[in-house]
Amino acid sequence: MTLHRGQCLCGQVSFTIDAEPLGARMCWCRDCQRIASGSATVNVLFAEDAVRYQGEVSTIRLTADSGNTVERGFCPRCGAQMYSRTVEPAGLPIRVRAGTLDDPELMPPQAQIWVSSAPSWAPLDPNLPQHPKAPPPV
Ligand SMILES: [Zn+2]
Ligand SMILES: [Zn+2]
Repeated sequence: MTLHRGQCLCGQVSFTIDAEPLGARMCWCRDCQRIASGSATVNVLFAEDAVRYQGEVSTIRLTADSGNTVERGFCPRCGAQMYSRTVEPAGLPIRVRAGTLDDPELMPPQAQIWVSSAPSWAPLDPNLPQHPKAPPPV
């Protein structure tokens, strides 16, 4: 049963989610700064098999700062970043970009990760846990 929905900027890509989130985090790794216009990405975590994308999604696979092989999905028409998922090792939650959810209030960030690579001007929230690098697994 679909519980949550979302889409890219132009609407070419949409998605449905049939589970509740496992967590939410802001990521300040350098890869995220490059795709999020200089800021952190804001990500809501779900079991990977709970999220289904429709439409054409372009992907790029890179070795992340963590050393994991990470795939990032984005709309080839409008460029909106849709998700990241860890290909190797398998089994980690998929990270849905919070701004693509129809309801961005679904789950506020609960932690800030990779803050050791955040710029000095980053508006880090002192009320949220800060992890210098990768967080403990969800
Ligand atoms: Zn689009
Ligand atoms: Zn990141």
